[in-house]
Amino acid sequence: MTLAPSHKALVPFVSVDNMMKLVHHIGIEPMLRGLADYIEADFRRWELFDKTPRIASHSEEGVIELMPTSDGEVYGFKYVNGHPKNTREGLQTVTAFGLLANVGNGYPVLLSEMTVLTALRTAATSAMVAKYLAPKGADTMAMIGNGAQSEFQTLAMKAICGLKSVRLYDIDPAATAKAARNLRGLGLEVVSCSSPEESMEGAQIITTCTADKQYATILTDNMVGAGVHINAIGGDCPGKTELAPGVLRRSTIYVEYPEQTRIEGEIQQLAPDHPVTEMWQVINGTAKGRSSTDEITLFDSVGFAIEDFSALRYVRDHIAGTELFLELDLLADPDDPRDLFGMLQRAAKP
Ligand code: NAD
Repeated sequence: MTLAPSHKALVPFVSVDNMMKLVHHIGIEPMLRGLADYIEADFRRWELFDKTPRIASHSEEGVIELMPTSDGEVYGFKYVNGHPKNTREGLQTVTAFGLLANVGNGYPVLLSEMTVLTALRTAATSAMVAKYLAPKGADTMAMIGNGAQSEFQTLAMKAICGLKSVRLYDIDPAATAKAARNLRGLGLEVVSCSSPEESMEGAQIITTCTADKQYATILTDNMVGAGVHINAIGGDCPGKTELAPGVLRRSTIYVEYPEQTRIEGEIQQLAPDHPVTEMWQVINGTAKGRSSTDEITLFDSVGFAIEDFSALRYVRDHIAGTELFLELDLLADPDDPRDLFGMLQRAAKP
């Protein structure tokens, strides 16, 4: 038995600062494409994963959620909140961090910020899904809700689906002005609109990405024409939806994990047995995607743990060989694994 001082099993940690450096090191559009590839690859092996609806702790003001999954070799989870009132206090609506661990010994192998990463992975998922469901040649998107997620959503649609024009609308014109400013010079036509109807003119893709803790009706039945693809992002909690039920009834609905989406998604407004298609089956060819030019396809996105797992996997693979992480002394790891107390005692000695 050795009495040598404890050695440390250090855990790579990606801070917000390093995540931003990583995005610029890779380039935002290549990174969105890379994330979409990782997410699509994990959707193809969907059946292999441990899956559960996320564990949500609701309050009057918002929600705090844990999102775990495992592919049998690697385990991952994300901590994420959703507090629509936060922006009024100068805080983010959504913040997050996450972890990957080795299933073989349970030791964490990565801890990462996931506020920026969630915006990237949500956008990459939306665009990966739109690649399968949006009408052919779709190049114009209405972007309703111009908050923190909106530029990411727009750029992913450009990088992955060839979007050429985005039409912005938000109830708060300052949010639209911010998004228009941020998107300037990035190779898209950017049109600021003063009503949701105006934003949808000529759009084949409609993204709703608003934050309000109520059954909102961002899209009413009469606003949605035949043949569009709706990418519904903001309805992701019990009692927090964006689309009128009439829109849902006219749409073919695609979801991530039905057990979670029925609790949190737009379809919480429908009967519990209303038919939905699981996106992983469209991707592996066992279910149909869009079947006609008139069909309204709806991605009822709530965000699922496997997308975070894929995003963390991407980060783990891409920080290798860089200096874009710190090594955290997160795990007590005495040389004699049964001598945790001895390690503590030795730490008292000068
Ligand atoms: P945010 O608070 O930064 O932005 C929300 C924007 O919506 C604000 O600018 C607000 O003015 C606008 N808005 C509110 N009501 C509106 C209305 N009736 N019409 C038009 N605009 C309206 O929030 P965010 O971080 O951009 O997130 C947006 C939503 O996406 C949130 O509801 C969040 O919970 C959800 N979200 C979903 C996923 C997912 O995977 N599905 C992931 C991340 C965030």
